[in-house]
Amino acid sequence: MSNLPVEPEFEQAYKELASTLENSTLFQKFPEYRKALAVVSVPERIIQFRVVWEDDQHQVQVNRGFRVQFNSALGPYKGGLRFHPTVNLSILKFLGFEQIFKNALTGLSMGGGKGGSDFDPKGKSDNEIRRFCVSFMTELCKHIGADTDVPAGDIGVTGREVGFLFGQYRKIRNQWEGVLTGKGGSWGGSLIRPEATGYGVVYYVEHMIQHATAGKESFAGKRVAISGSGNVAQYAALKVIELGGSVVSLSDSQGSLIANGDASFTPEEIDLIAALKVDRKQISEIATSAAFSAKFKYLPGARPWVHVGQVDVALPSATQNEVSGEEAEALIAAGCKFIAEGSNMGCTQAAIDVFEAHREANQGAAAIWYAPGKAANAGGVAVSGLEMAQNSARINWTAEEVDARLKDIMKACFQNGVDTAKEFATPTEGYFPSLVTGSNIAGFTKVAAAMKDQGDWW
Ligand code: NDP
Repeated sequence: MSNLPVEPEFEQAYKELASTLENSTLFQKFPEYRKALAVVSVPERIIQFRVVWEDDQHQVQVNRGFRVQFNSALGPYKGGLRFHPTVNLSILKFLGFEQIFKNALTGLSMGGGKGGSDFDPKGKSDNEIRRFCVSFMTELCKHIGADTDVPAGDIGVTGREVGFLFGQYRKIRNQWEGVLTGKGGSWGGSLIRPEATGYGVVYYVEHMIQHATAGKESFAGKRVAISGSGNVAQYAALKVIELGGSVVSLSDSQGSLIANGDASFTPEEIDLIAALKVDRKQISEIATSAAFSAKFKYLPGARPWVHVGQVDVALPSATQNEVSGEEAEALIAAGCKFIAEGSNMGCTQAAIDVFEAHREANQGAAAIWYAPGKAANAGGVAVSGLEMAQNSARINWTAEEVDARLKDIMKACFQNGVDTAKEFATPTEGYFPSLVTGSNIAGFTKVAAAMKDQGDWW
């Protein structure tokens, strides 16, 4: 019999959580929580369906559609939809599992879920994407609702796709309700939702920097390596620049752009890349232009980490498993002090082990400090939760109000990770606590306690 994992990404996410719980004092203090871990790791429900649609040549196309309704103890299932050819149940179960604990860390009333399709939006016309979304929602609408399950975007699902999906739900159910988040600003969307994940990561790291330097340093003057060039990467980059840092890399699935010397991306250059991505194009198309080739190296097929030179901060913001153990070593050698995942499971377990070992061995300022995605990128779903609240109350908050709430949530999320790690894992004062252990325990215990109260385990 093969020893290969059947669901490798899900098993990786499960082991990452379980190992931090095992290596803390949690199960010594509360042995009954082992039972909760066994129960929480099985989805409440998985929906799989066929999506048949017509391409521009009038040919029938078929894709797989999924929704993993993982846990509803804290609120309606909540989590994005991913449209990408690699989508399968292992990936959606890992994303849904992470989402349960991330949503718990926001402090808002949201359960965890995730969904999507192996449909590839690249190379499709807008009409093909609309027809696909209509067909996808024709089935999904039977299983979701504002108080049941509220999807949002993820890789390959932008405001445009959310619009097509929402329109079909409204027509087929004859109901206008906040069934999706990430909607357009004039029809129920929250201000700051597009920016929220990227901004939130940067707000989170700002707390790490201040904590580690006793308030002496901030993003100002820091060199920041970012991967990806989609929603999360773009807004993380813009916020870093606003706070006085330099962005020295961006990338996509085909290659990386690395700034020469002390150069940084400017907001105008990020806007140009954002416009390319709206058209589902690659950054290689801009890399050879006179302005870009004078300032940036384009490395086809490469991730940025071993090519960025000296950096202070790294923000993986493209996809899962995009930092290997070797790349983690290279980032440490390049002087990186803070790494936070904009992407979900951006680091391999080998990379996390390298970062955590370095933190433990170098207590204090010489250490690298790692923040897991379920804490650092929680800002996106947090503002989705705020969008749900605005839709329910039929009101709209200003950008300043939403941004202020986002900042408060990211601060609480960071502090919760620090305090919980000190309670269950980190023995000494003046030592950077493990944010992965602290965030995992804080998210897990909140969900486990709610499940116990509701009779999900005993
Ligand atoms: P987008 O689709 O907007 O952008 C994804 C970016 O990652 C693109 O640059 C894409 O390149 C690149 N990418 C995708 N797949 C791969 C791959 N296999 N290898 C290398 N690069 C790849 O997605 P988002 O920015 O929304 O999401 C990025 C990450 O952040 C994901 O892990 C997502 O789960 C996570 N996340 C997103 C949230 C959100 O609110 N959007 C919230 C929390 C987490 P290309 O253009 O070539 O395809």
